[in-house]
Amino acid sequence: MKRRVLLASSMLFVTVGLACGFPDDRAPDTGAGVDSVPSADVSGADAASADVDGEVPLIAAGTLRVHFLDVGQGDGILIVSPGGETVLIDGGGSRCGLVVQTLDTLGVGDIDYAIASHYHEDHIGCTPEILARRDVRYAAYDRGASPSTDSTGSDTYNAYVAAVGSKRRKASAEAPILLDNGDVRIDFAALNGNGTGASDENDLSVVAVLRYGRFDAVMGGDLGGYDAGGGTDVETSVAPIVGRVEVYKVHHHGSEDGSNPAWLAITQPQVGVVPVGTVNPYGHPSAAAMGRLHQAGVDLYWTQAGNGVAPVAGLDRVWGGVVVEVAPGSQGFTVTGKGGTVQYQSWPDAAFADSM
Ligand SMILES: [Zn+2]
Repeated sequence: MKRRVLLASSMLFVTVGLACGFPDDRAPDTGAGVDSVPSADVSGADAASADVDGEVPLIAAGTLRVHFLDVGQGDGILIVSPGGETVLIDGGGSRCGLVVQTLDTLGVGDIDYAIASHYHEDHIGCTPEILARRDVRYAAYDRGASPSTDSTGSDTYNAYVAAVGSKRRKASAEAPILLDNGDVRIDFAALNGNGTGASDENDLSVVAVLRYGRFDAVMGGDLGGYDAGGGTDVETSVAPIVGRVEVYKVHHHGSEDGSNPAWLAITQPQVGVVPVGTVNPYGHPSAAAMGRLHQAGVDLYWTQAGNGVAPVAGLDRVWGGVVVEVAPGSQGFTVTGKGGTVQYQSWPDAAFADSM
């Protein structure tokens, strides 16, 4: 895969009010649950993304950046490789304009790869609107098949299928996404319940693992970890495939049915990102899941204050969207949000044995 022309090198974070001081271990901004980033008016937003002689003008800072966007109640994650290649994992379901605005701000034209974790509206609902303004250059991965019967409706799924069109591919453990000639890769650790017999749409989520040097981040949609309430414990069987990670996109918006002790003991995340909306009818995030994450020593970053358990000072930072950044050859990574930047050291051993 060829590298892109890098048109700009300035560090550009989407986050508003970026502070430069770090490390920042002050008490989290627990009062800032209401999102301060206005939804974008996406009308005519395509103008900034015009191709240049067929080449997409991407801003590449030379570092790996993972943007966990504040899409409210839902997931929206944009990965930009050091060479400027891009992967969108889910696109949220309500703040579609923010996703498009982010792509505009970063100078991202067409998206190289898309991944849909599963077929719930808060993960794929915005995909048609996003892909009306951006093409997927190579492939749009999902779990194949069609929605589980508990899904939010076939209209959402059908609109998604129409939007990804001929680029749709079923994710496979045998076919990871390789970025920057393989320096960065995304493994598909599991999908469709990993052989557990799960039938709940959440439990069928694609589990994507981003790997770059020592850095590993796992993003598994709304995967569950308990045999209860129609759900299935998929986490326990997937954790050994994932291995130890630095960053964990907390499953299912902090619902009590995710983040079980076995998952946390094996993946040992240092940082957990909780994408959650202040307006949600589910009581997310739950006291149970947040308690387990605290017990496991995971530093938590919430996109919003949610509608469940209150954030705990010193443990939970309600920072809006955050950007995780990893420099080439780095032994560590940073997390930046509206409260500042925090530095972390990566685990000393690579969880992934590079086969290149
Ligand atoms: Zn969800």
